[in-house]
Amino acid sequence: KRVPFIGANWKMYLMPDQVIPYIETIKNQIPKPSETQVMIAASPLYLWPLLKHAVGSDVIIGAENCDYHDTGAYTGEVSPKALAEIGIQYSIAGHSERRHYFDEDPTIVNKKVHALLRNQINPIVCCDETLVRTETNDGVHWVVSQVIAAFKNVSSTDALKMMIAYEPRWAIGTGITASADEAEEGCALIRQTISRIYSPEVAETVRVLYGGSVTPKNVKALMAKPDIDGVLVGSASLDPDEFLNLIHY
Ligand code: 13P
Repeated sequence: KRVPFIGANWKMYLMPDQVIPYIETIKNQIPKPSETQVMIAASPLYLWPLLKHAVGSDVIIGAENCDYHDTGAYTGEVSPKALAEIGIQYSIAGHSERRHYFDEDPTIVNKKVHALLRNQINPIVCCDETLVRTETNDGVHWVVSQVIAAFKNVSSTDALKMMIAYEPRWAIGTGITASADEAEEGCALIRQTISRIYSPEVAETVRVLYGGSVTPKNVKALMAKPDIDGVLVGSASLDPDEFLNLIHY
């Protein structure tokens, strides 16, 4: 049985004065981790204070991105080794915005996956697709190729530590959610791809998430789908009360 996973992706929205009140509001109001795991992915600037404030609660504090080197002369980058040492156990890799605005190609995303795994951080890899690609059906090829690239040279044992998110670019931050059926189609395709790369058993264990304009209103229909094990939430995660509503859908 796959445990549902609800992740906030704050992106670059929240300012320092909002971060501690947010975690204090939600930290004792989330479900047991055996029922639903709840993560906040935040800017590296906020991770350490968030971890301190999350002590004793079940909120997972995650990273939004990191570099693929452990240490070295990489000015401005964030070390996955340092993330692990402060206690980070989950990180997003290859978010659509990273791929689109920061030119992260599938090879770079795969390097980040390996960097996270070698530092015992669970990668949450996002696969995107554009409207053009969706309409021309090329989206299928593109999603599959991103999944294959993300898992390149990853053992089946390590694959079990990963999550994959289907996040169509046209649904991110637009208010246009994929319908529950469209989201299920994307997530099912990802699961089939994992099954072909590894085995049906691995595919049955790896959690597949949907992201893109998820709200407290549409989350229930999404979570009811068999291949959607959780959601990544941007805009609707910025207000703690709205995010709590979404968690307790
Ligand atoms: P929105 O919920 O704002 O569409 O963002 C989704 C997202 O990018 C989650 O990673």
